Amino acid sequence: MLNESYREKGLRQQLVNEIKKKGITDLRIIDAIGKIPRHLFMDSAFVNFAYVDKAFPIGSGQTISQPYTVAFQTELLDIKKGDKVLEIGTGSGYQTAVLMELGAKVFTIERQRELFLKAQRFLPKLGYNPQFFYGDGYLGKPTYGPFDKILITAGAPEVPPVLLEQLTIGGYMVIPFGITEQTMLRITKTSESEYNEEQFGTFCFVPLLKGTAND
Ligand code: SAH
Repeated sequence: MLNESYREKGLRQQLVNEIKKKGITDLRIIDAIGKIPRHLFMDSAFVNFAYVDKAFPIGSGQTISQPYTVAFQTELLDIKKGDKVLEIGTGSGYQTAVLMELGAKVFTIERQRELFLKAQRFLPKLGYNPQFFYGDGYLGKPTYGPFDKILITAGAPEVPPVLLEQLTIGGYMVIPFGITEQTMLRITKTSESEYNEEQFGTFCFVPLLKGTAND
């Protein structure tokens, strides 16, 4: 790996211990967090905090999600090798890397041009090659769907109906739902027109916004 040192490996092991303590049990996710060099996804000003279990600024007013939150959302998605996953909010690309470590085929959308360009340049250097899209994730990617899983990594004021249409039957959408704080929802598509909803506690995300930042 690039720029890897014993120091970073040691710090990453502490982070792994912390997310285990907070209740993450899926060993594949724990291995992914233990392997992915989060410090390389961070802004240089925050690089010393890369293995602290918190969200940090990544530019364009956005944040890299807290590792525990990334692990929690990934656990809810129950990723199987080869799953087609649509991710809304590429951000730093860290969550994308975790999904790809689990063998998902990832289609990821970002509305901030700078972040989209940065992730598109950077992730392949680590060997991650998702399909990157610049645009409004509210609309999904109907021509690439349906998707086995849809992950929203920003706080959504509504559940976009267009995205539910792009789920396979039996597929999951994991979406932090709410404005000032969010309830984590897992929505299962049980038939062409029916859904089941489960709730998993409260989280805090940057908002899911319509259009692109350059509109
Ligand atoms: N998974 C990312 C999280 C980044 S924060 C990481 O760990 O780095 C959420 C991201 O969602 C931000 O980058 C924000 O710009 C993006 N976002 C918000 N609304 C969006 C939309 N409608 N379409 C695509 N991306 C969106």
